[in-house]
Amino acid sequence: MAASMSGQVLRNLSVRSSLLSGKQGVQVTSRRWLNLQEYQSKKLMADHGVTVQRFFVADTASDAFEAAKKLKAREIVLKAQILAGGRGKGVFDSGLKGGVHLTTDPNKVGTLAKQMIGYKLTTKQTSKDGVKVNKVMVAEALDISRETYLAILMDRACNGPVLVGSPQGGVDIEEVAEKTPELIFKEEIDIFDGIKDSQALRMADNLGFKGPLQNQAADQIKRLYDLFLKVDATQVEVNPFGETPQGQVVCFDAKINFDDNAEFRQKAIFAMDDTSETDPIESEAASYDLKYIGMDGNIACFVNGAGLAMATCDIIDLHGGKPANFLDLGGGVKEAQVYQAFKLLTADPKVEAILVNIFGGIVNCAIVANGITKACRELGLKVPLVVRLEGTNVHEAKKILSESGLPITAANDLEDAARKAVASVAKK
Ligand code: GDP
Ligand code: MN
Repeated sequence: MAASMSGQVLRNLSVRSSLLSGKQGVQVTSRRWLNLQEYQSKKLMADHGVTVQRFFVADTASDAFEAAKKLKAREIVLKAQILAGGRGKGVFDSGLKGGVHLTTDPNKVGTLAKQMIGYKLTTKQTSKDGVKVNKVMVAEALDISRETYLAILMDRACNGPVLVGSPQGGVDIEEVAEKTPELIFKEEIDIFDGIKDSQALRMADNLGFKGPLQNQAADQIKRLYDLFLKVDATQVEVNPFGETPQGQVVCFDAKINFDDNAEFRQKAIFAMDDTSETDPIESEAASYDLKYIGMDGNIACFVNGAGLAMATCDIIDLHGGKPANFLDLGGGVKEAQVYQAFKLLTADPKVEAILVNIFGGIVNCAIVANGITKACRELGLKVPLVVRLEGTNVHEAKKILSESGLPITAANDLEDAARKAVASVAKK
């Protein structure tokens, strides 16, 4: 059970298995707020000279049908637009199987789109409930003779960008990394020198592009790297990075993640942010620079840092409780944010207790304590509150809490805090 809960937190924190180390461990990155749909990423790719199929986007079945006619293609590929991957093997709650369909009949595009738009698509990467589809991509289908995998990642271990590729694309790449790690190839790129021709050519060769296709693939890889830098991406993933029988290298799918710190110089891209799949509380939290993750238990968790969030999750689980949500304060927090954070946490009707678990490094515990007492008074807190603070300015913080006269349960450490929070819920 602990594993599955941590799993949920992990997914929500945007995790990718460590393809690079080949180890099974996961790499936790702080959650990225900007998400673009495939059609938006492909538009960026096309703008940078990367080869993608001709496409239209539709949000009604009749528009999808019209788009299919306008494309005048021998075959059409219709793709549900959701942020999660694994759409090809996904299932809709309309009963339709597959979020990616090929057909030669524009009428069929209309009937398929009707079973996609407005329905929820569940894939390996979504929650069990799936994600509602608002848009579909209607593209010219191309035959694929070979599917490879290509990604460019900003990697901490390499202190810079790294190309990751495999001749075994199209499939679940984590599985390839796990079962046949020898089929994963890497090229570390020097951010100052840029990608070398020899690196792009070697990757193209490792991906199995031979003869003139090798040069074409290398050229596409260099253009993708150029895009990666220009848009301040942290990850550009193309799966499949494919080959057609006519000898063309094409990016059949696209996923781009962006560096939030670059928002100031990537205004046009950040303006495209698709928040339709984001939980409204998550969006509101983001507007105060807070990170919120909803779960299904009854203990609200107020923490700082993804690592502490997971530790808190596991220890609550260990003591027989279930988290209702997580609110990650991050560092450099202000009193007003603490107040907003409390407001968000308590707005969730499932919440029957609140556990504050703050390890003050950059965070000043006294600021947190002041924010908490202010919020408790003004919001008229009605559920038990267990607080564990540690680190910077903790003595002053404890004094603020104990002198507040509020019914706050102090905890000595994480274990103690979890036990007390779980007990307070069980008592009810
Ligand atoms: P994902 O399942 O969410 O990763 O969606 P993809 O865009 O990768 O599509 C899933 C699969 O559909 C791909 O791996 C391809 O095998 C197939 N596919 C996608 N586009 C085309 C196309 O234009 N032609 C053909 N023949 N297959 C396609
Ligand atoms: Mn794909």
